Amino acid sequence: MMTAELAGSQVIIELVYLIASVLFILSLKWMSSPTTARHGIWAGEVGMLLAICGTLLHHGIVDYRLIAIGLVLGTIIGVPLGRVAMTAVPQRTALSHAFGALCVTLVGSAEFYLRAPNISRFMMSVLSLEVILGGLTVTGSLMAAGKLQEILPQRPLTYKGQNLVNLVLLVGALVIAVSLVLHPEARSLFPFMILIALAFGVLLIIPIGGADMPTVISLLNGYAGLSAAAMGFVLDSKLLIIAGALDGSSGLILSIIMSKAMNRSFTNVLFGAFGQVQTSHAAGEEARPVRSATPEEAAAILSAANRVIVVPGYGMAVAQAQHKVRELYDSLSKRGVDVRFAIHPVAGRMPGHMNVLLAEADIPYDRLIEMEEINGDFPQTDVALVIGANDVTNPAARSDASSPIYGMPILDVDKAHTAMVIKRSMNPGFAGIDNPLYYLDNTLMLFGDAKAFVGSIVRELSGGHG
Ligand code: NDP
Repeated sequence: MMTAELAGSQVIIELVYLIASVLFILSLKWMSSPTTARHGIWAGEVGMLLAICGTLLHHGIVDYRLIAIGLVLGTIIGVPLGRVAMTAVPQRTALSHAFGALCVTLVGSAEFYLRAPNISRFMMSVLSLEVILGGLTVTGSLMAAGKLQEILPQRPLTYKGQNLVNLVLLVGALVIAVSLVLHPEARSLFPFMILIALAFGVLLIIPIGGADMPTVISLLNGYAGLSAAAMGFVLDSKLLIIAGALDGSSGLILSIIMSKAMNRSFTNVLFGAFGQVQTSHAAGEEARPVRSATPEEAAAILSAANRVIVVPGYGMAVAQAQHKVRELYDSLSKRGVDVRFAIHPVAGRMPGHMNVLLAEADIPYDRLIEMEEINGDFPQTDVALVIGANDVTNPAARSDASSPIYGMPILDVDKAHTAMVIKRSMNPGFAGIDNPLYYLDNTLMLFGDAKAFVGSIVRELSGGHG
């Protein structure tokens, strides 16, 4: 190829990469609001398509056949992965991080063997960072996905001296990295650095309970992004640096937001072994009495109310009750009842879970109110209707210093005149603990599947209306 042609194609590639980078940035910005989130997804997808096309124009490619096979295989694996239930999205996301990090680690290894010992100290440092972060993200993400899918035990596994073992491994990997920076000719050390990073990923996740997995997945997202950014330096790709930095920082920010919403520190999430079997409410303990109500009674209470706050949680997602909830919203609104939805930042099993479900059912965005904004309104609310939420309404988080969720901000459902809770049994939620809300005088338990129970209330309301 002539030099001028080469320079021309390089300009096109850089331009395509620039547009892709801008689209990635816009994508993140748009995804931060439910009204623009769809545009955000489109921008991200188009950006990624452009990035792939730009890379395919690269003059270094001598044979497209292997790339074509890779694309076909990736599509065959990727399409079914995109069709998982929404409740399985966290583990599905963890798998993507594992694949991305595996790619980063393999590319890093190939680059090392192509270049070493002729590699600068800076490049070797970045390359080491790339493969250490990539390696630990591969196994860490696979472990996290396995725990969430319940292929592996969700319970935290702890042993004496665990943190010391992990620290020694991490220091070991870093010592090898420094040795390689100083002596890149010691190529035989390289595989050990990767093996240690892979082992570290497994051991890092073992002591973390299932309930903390989504936060950890977000953290691993951060690591995967940072390793991709490091790969950008190694491959001299500004696009990868930008995309990796965006991915890395958004993953880290999200895990900080989630930790805050659960009032947990990072060290507590990573080393606190949260989610162990609780002993405060031992099995066989006397069942405390609760008051329950029928759909007819619930419908009567709701139709007599002026202000209702609906509190959705994981159970609404499991039951896929969002469309019935929309019918309930319509029916009550028609009767002049003011219905709003209280959104707890960690309700469900992933950030934004409730927003996505309620948006899917076309509930107006302005009816979805964030926790800090709505919490002060519960005392003036006639009915707080909890639909499949549990931990995010547990008043023990406010008052019981011995509770494992003590300090986690909750929705003050118990302060409403009447709280009604739809769930199937007295079983605990994700944190595995009892909820004192259920035993209060102003609480009525509505036992049943969320979709079926809300459906029955709607039928009662329309029967009474017509
Ligand atoms: P919970 O897991 O606390 O409770 C869900 C409740 O739904 C259960 O008690 C269950 O009771 C009920 N339920 C399940 N299926 C149905 C059904 N078909 N119909 C009616 N009810 C049903 O959920 P929350 O949303 O309140 O809290 C989320 C939890 O997840 C918190 O502990 C949070 O810290 C954790 N978490 C969330 C993250 C996020 O990003 N959203 C991230 C990390 C952790 P029963 O079995 O009796 O029906």
